[in-house]
Amino acid sequence: MTTSASVDLTIRDISSGAARGSTCSTTLLEAPWDVDAGPSTYGPGASQADPLPTGSPRQGQIPEAYRTASREELDARIRAAKAQLGERVVVLGHFYQRDEVVQYADYVGDSFQLATAAKARRDAEAIVFCGVHFMAETADLLSAPEQAVILPNLAAGCSMADMADIDQVEECWEQLMEVYGEEPDADGLAPIIPVTYMNSAADLKGFVGRHGGIVCTSSNARTVLDWAFARGRRVLFFPDQHLGRNTAKAMGIGLEQMPLWNPRRPLGGNDERTLQDAKVVLWHGFCSVHKRFTTAQIDQARAEHPDVRVIVHPECPMPVVDAADEAGSTDYIRKAIEAAEEPTTFAIGTEINLVQRLAAQHPQHTIFCLDPVVCPCSTMYRIHPGYLAWVLESLLEGEVINRITVGQDVAEPARLALERMLAAKPGAAPVDAEAPAPGKQAAGARP
Ligand code: SF4
Repeated sequence: MTTSASVDLTIRDISSGAARGSTCSTTLLEAPWDVDAGPSTYGPGASQADPLPTGSPRQGQIPEAYRTASREELDARIRAAKAQLGERVVVLGHFYQRDEVVQYADYVGDSFQLATAAKARRDAEAIVFCGVHFMAETADLLSAPEQAVILPNLAAGCSMADMADIDQVEECWEQLMEVYGEEPDADGLAPIIPVTYMNSAADLKGFVGRHGGIVCTSSNARTVLDWAFARGRRVLFFPDQHLGRNTAKAMGIGLEQMPLWNPRRPLGGNDERTLQDAKVVLWHGFCSVHKRFTTAQIDQARAEHPDVRVIVHPECPMPVVDAADEAGSTDYIRKAIEAAEEPTTFAIGTEINLVQRLAAQHPQHTIFCLDPVVCPCSTMYRIHPGYLAWVLESLLEGEVINRITVGQDVAEPARLALERMLAAKPGAAPVDAEAPAPGKQAAGARP
């Protein structure tokens, strides 16, 4: 297992034969602008087999100077542009972003931490978000109207977020209202409360805001479900079925009370009785990065390292979360490693860029990714230093490129749903469910 902090360099080394290992696609070595100019796909990486919705944003060709510049030249240009722009710009880098880009970030974090960082920097005219589309939308929701949020490559979407679109969710809601009715029960509880994961388009956050619902992150999913069950009999959870299932299971909700909603089938592929008995209706979405983790990988890690501590992200499938020692958000994983006082072997089930960065930052520990194949998030990987240099130098010339804006009709209810999340407090409402098994970290809970 390599300990290089750079996934990009690791992939180059493997492809050239200088290092052992395997990658999920050697096409990752190609310049991303070639992928952007090709057929409309998520590009090489974990989401390469996922269908891209029609009409997804495409990235036009950037000037040749950025496509042909060497890494050294791009480095000099980015540093010079940032220095000249000073406080006028803030660069945000997601934990899963590649190091070649993260090195220029003023803040590094998960999607919500970064959106909060954007909110705190009201002095900046421009927020350059080196993440994916839904993250830039959230930053736009939380930043001041005059601040421009920029996504350096418009093709950096998110395959999971794209698995639920507003038309499908509206249609689902209509069908659920026909089954449940719209009126609260004798206890004043609504028939169902919509909950969307942060990893969703702004119009879905607006949808939940309009329908008495709420947003959650992988850090607070349990708290948010408690909030929802204090207000409704059931929850519609989208787009990630795994986060929903792992969190609800840790609350003691039975799998038979968590039907899956397939948007391409009437009633989501369920009968009315199943929906009446449901506690959590799970949308048929998933993250192709976290779907790659398996229980066989955990078995192998335990066989090779008997004292290994296995921590996985709650976007992983339920059997993987069950087989791990702990499950938690990227922030949880980072803090768990930082808090380990003795040299420890960690097997981590989350995106490879974060795992390799943690390995480089904590040489006293042995830290490796459960998935032996180097396969980054396809969409996060689409942001290359060439795009960053392009948007920063354009700002210097007074041009705002690739601005992401959320319309007012969506922004108001979406902010309401985010505010409900921020106001939700852990343990606010009891649920007719058992606590998670002792010693097992509830999925989505903070350490
Ligand atoms: S890791 Fe998964 S959820 Fe996160 S941006 Fe990539 S595809 Fe989307």
